[in-house]
Amino acid sequence: MNKTNQLYEGKAKIVYETDEPDKLIVYFKDDATAGNGEKRGIIAEKGIINNRMSEFFFKLLKTNGINSHFIESINDREMVVRRLKMIPLEVIVRNVVAGSLVKRMGWDEGTPLKTPVLEYDYKNDKLGDPLLNRYHIMALDIARVYELDEIEHIAFSANQIMMSLLKSKNIMLIDFKLEFGLDDKGKVVLADEISPDNCRFWDMTTNEKLDKDRFRYDMGGVEEAYKEILTRVTA
Ligand code: ADP
Ligand code: UDP
Repeated sequence: MNKTNQLYEGKAKIVYETDEPDKLIVYFKDDATAGNGEKRGIIAEKGIINNRMSEFFFKLLKTNGINSHFIESINDREMVVRRLKMIPLEVIVRNVVAGSLVKRMGWDEGTPLKTPVLEYDYKNDKLGDPLLNRYHIMALDIARVYELDEIEHIAFSANQIMMSLLKSKNIMLIDFKLEFGLDDKGKVVLADEISPDNCRFWDMTTNEKLDKDRFRYDMGGVEEAYKEILTRVTA
């Protein structure tokens, strides 16, 4: 398979068309952004780590009955995926209070949630990815009810599967963001990536942050944290 045109360059990845119309190649960059692009930097080897970790989690989910766009990794920084029509939603699942939930609700970071919480953000950089509920999504014609039902089923199942694997490595899955697309039959398919860029991982003993919060909040040890979480998750 060969790359043909560059389809899209985003903040963290480049997406290429290939000579097979239903397949794309995703290239993972080292570029990092936070605060809707206000903070920018490079995290050395992040692209390699995010490609490997996404491969690991997509395979774990597949073993547990959840299909994704992942087909195969072809080198350190690139994977082949199924081409989808992306739904412009960021689907966030939370187990413990962190990030924007602290600001929005005034709750203390680190407070466990009694039940997992699912939120939708509209994937729209101009608007700063605003929070939406099902009614906004239907009113804006972003997705249908049955698609949201399927998205929520996949997101909560992925949460259970990932959380249980991570617990066995003494890591708490605080929260994470997923993206979904539709295949040519209109079926909802998990897409994008699953990595320390879009998950929060804390060591269960020390509460040490092993994810992009180290970059967001200038905590130092960013590269080391990305390397450590990959090693621990995939060991
Ligand atoms: P952003 O757009 O947020 O800056 P990235 O740099 O991660 O994000 O770019 C990757 C882009 O590819 C995202 O817009 C994402 O929605 C899109 N994408 C992910 N998986 C697929 C897929 N299977 N088919 C088509 N587009 C995809
Ligand atoms: N997230 C993401 N992309 C975004 C916003 C959030 O990957 O554009 C992830 C983030 O890494 C965290 C979860 O979604 O794991 C919840 O993020 P939150 O809403 O707390 O936002 P933030 O603190 O990033 O503003």
